[in-house]
Amino acid sequence: SEIALEELPGVGPATAEKLKEAGFNTIEAVAVASPSELATTAEIGESTAAKIINAARQAADIGGFETGDIVLERRKMVGKLTTGCTEFDEMMGGGIETQAITELYGEFGSGKTQLAHQLAVNVQMDREHGGLNGSVIIIDTENTFRPERIAQMVKGLSEKYGMELDPEEFLQNIHVARAYNSNHQILLVESATDLANELRDMGKPVRLLIVDSLMAHFRAEYVGRGTLADRQQKLNKHMHGLLRFGDLFNACVVVTNQVMAKPDAFFGDPTRPVGGHVVGHTATFRLYLRKSKGDKRIIRLVDSPNLPEGEAVIAVTTAGLTD
Ligand code: ADP
Ligand code: MG
Repeated sequence: SEIALEELPGVGPATAEKLKEAGFNTIEAVAVASPSELATTAEIGESTAAKIINAARQAADIGGFETGDIVLERRKMVGKLTTGCTEFDEMMGGGIETQAITELYGEFGSGKTQLAHQLAVNVQMDREHGGLNGSVIIIDTENTFRPERIAQMVKGLSEKYGMELDPEEFLQNIHVARAYNSNHQILLVESATDLANELRDMGKPVRLLIVDSLMAHFRAEYVGRGTLADRQQKLNKHMHGLLRFGDLFNACVVVTNQVMAKPDAFFGDPTRPVGGHVVGHTATFRLYLRKSKGDKRIIRLVDSPNLPEGEAVIAVTTAGLTD
């Protein structure tokens, strides 16, 4: 934001200093804080904190209202992208939705990157074949994007549909950037917005934004309790940037996430995605991938605003993801 903290009503230089010391460096950081959190760190009353937060929200232009009919108009535009797997698509109510963040989490080798690659291919197909006629932007934090894998999957689709698809053309519609650290990763969402505007003007609208993986840099850079609040604020900003991208371009946003062991789990699955409540609350759909026999993977829909929980089995093959 261009606005300085000091410009918020009720924030003098001393309070601004305290806020900054506590890690609330920007209007956005203040806007998403809770009154009690802000009151404690900046040593101000809770009602003052609430007023500052409200002012920050207005200044940051978040938390605005719109009427239901406007929301409905936008919802009508929601597209569904096929995963290429019948059961999986059915579980998702037709496919991966645009204007939403879909989080894929699971252990190493569970198929998150494979699914991301497959979606980058499928989204380029026409609607008749479950695609969205779209191009793709990938923010690659682990250097796991493989054009050769895309080519294999395009070949797979050619055979599946009996069409002649050119892998080269598919690769030309995938725009990949390496993210070297979490700040860079956040900046790349802004670059992605510029690029998506250009591509839209060129008649190649971006319908899929992938971040693979979402948390790797954040986890590596923010170690220890003291830095956690700082990390969560940045992550929150990042997640909202992604959500905004999805809304703005009517695009699917797909992020991959790692898991960690849950030490206090006495029963059930002892793993959970990292990123805490910020990721948990911002991701619209959460999918848990796990390995099964051979090339099979089990995908569980863990969280969705409008669909029941469920499981689907897919296979990761050389030709791509299949039933
Ligand atoms: P992660 O969840 O860590 O991102 P990946 O999506 O990279 O995991 O999945 C890796 C797995 O995908 C490999 O262990 C292998 O089983 C499968 N896989 C990768 N490439 C191919 C391929 N060309 N043909 C068949 N299976 C593949
Ligand atoms: Mg991966």
